[in-house]
Amino acid sequence: MSTEIEKILNVAREHAATEVAPNVDDWNQSGVWPRAASDKAGAAGLTGLYAPKEYGGQGLSLGDGIRVYEELGTADGAYAFALSMHNICTFAGCGYGTEAFKEQWARDLTSGRKLANFALTEPQSGSDATNMYSRAVINSDGTWTINGAKAWVSLAGEADIYFTVVKTTDQPGHQDMAMIAIPADAPGLSFGPRYETPSYNFLPLSEMYMKDVVVSEDNIILPIGQGLQGSLMAIDIARVSIASGCCGLMQAALDTALSYSKNRKMFGGKNLDLDGIQWMLGDVATELEASRLLYRAAANALGTPEGPVMAAHAKRFVPDAAVKAANTCTQVLGGMGLLKPYGLDRLSRLSQMLRIVDGTTEISRVVIGRSLAKRAKTLPDLPVPKGFGET
Ligand SMILES: Cc1cc2nc3c(=O)[nH]c(=O)nc-3n(C[C@H](O)[C@H](O)[C@H](O)COP(=O)(O)OP(=O)(O)OC[C@H]3O[C@@H](n4cnc5c(N)ncnc54)[C@H](O)[C@@H]3O)c2cc1C
Repeated sequence: MSTEIEKILNVAREHAATEVAPNVDDWNQSGVWPRAASDKAGAAGLTGLYAPKEYGGQGLSLGDGIRVYEELGTADGAYAFALSMHNICTFAGCGYGTEAFKEQWARDLTSGRKLANFALTEPQSGSDATNMYSRAVINSDGTWTINGAKAWVSLAGEADIYFTVVKTTDQPGHQDMAMIAIPADAPGLSFGPRYETPSYNFLPLSEMYMKDVVVSEDNIILPIGQGLQGSLMAIDIARVSIASGCCGLMQAALDTALSYSKNRKMFGGKNLDLDGIQWMLGDVATELEASRLLYRAAANALGTPEGPVMAAHAKRFVPDAAVKAANTCTQVLGGMGLLKPYGLDRLSRLSQMLRIVDGTTEISRVVIGRSLAKRAKTLPDLPVPKGFGET
């Protein structure tokens, strides 16, 4: 591991331990995004992970940078998720944005002074992202006028800019899709009431409405025709980032269970002396090791032809393992596992949320299934054994 990545992982570990873990219950109680903490994350270099150094980023590869969310995930998966989305937008803006966009936004994004998020989902379409209504009309002066609605927008009202996927014609399909960055103060941009969630309350989520929002062509991130394909690439990065965060979550659940179990007296010994408990926690540890190997392999595959299917494997397997880990660790603590200070119930809810966001477990299965069907076509037909098919 290079010293550069070691350094940033240490920074992330420290940030998780000092800024996030001790405060996350209060954040959830107040339901307010912890801007002071994300400002510190920015100052520490956690908001420009893959952006080039010339724009103030860390210039890390995806394979290395994605490991940051494992560290942040030990403290809170929703916080890790929000920063991962910001980092993906920053990567896209610094990599594919116009020179004017980079001039105006790149340094503010890499430093975390300004936050970004991605708006693809609409009220009528989540998994079926091509069923999109948000529509941009291109004006004679090059500006775009956008109308429509997005749903499930994270950092709604908190982010300073929204990387928004729109259609540019009335034709069905995705050939006309593009991505344009809409500044939060653009006239006509507004947000619906905040969704009421049972957990991760500090992450503001709501619908986003665009009514005759006029945006400069400088803000085009992905030109017409590349909107869906580019978004899918972004989502692959997001899927692996979520798997990384889930590994942190599993480690946190396991460590809580071990800390409790080693001291809980029962039957003349300790809870952790029981074979049944060791086997339960042993299974969590095995799935955690497997999850780490899988997400890191997927992170290294991003940008190659194997990237999408590897991201799907990671997103299919790891959040499921995290749900199991959080529930198993709760069970190990018995009734105590349900109490708030141990945080296991929070981890159960978070892991379930992470199974859904950025492509559900089922959508990952669809991607894997398609790749298997493609492989099947390249394989020879099996010979029919003697005695079969002879009517
Ligand atoms: C906390 C949170 C934050 C989010 N943040 C953002 C954000 O910032 N920006 C953004 O654009 N979106 C965001 N989303 C949206 C998220 O990506 C979608 O919720 C997700 O893609 C699923 O879409 P859906 O909720 O509309 O479910 P639907 O697409 O309606 O799916 C419903 C069910 O059908 C299943 N299903 C769908 N297709 C198939 C199939 N072919 N075979 C079998 N089952 C299938 C799904 O797996 C699911 O179980 C967020 C969601 C959450 C929960």
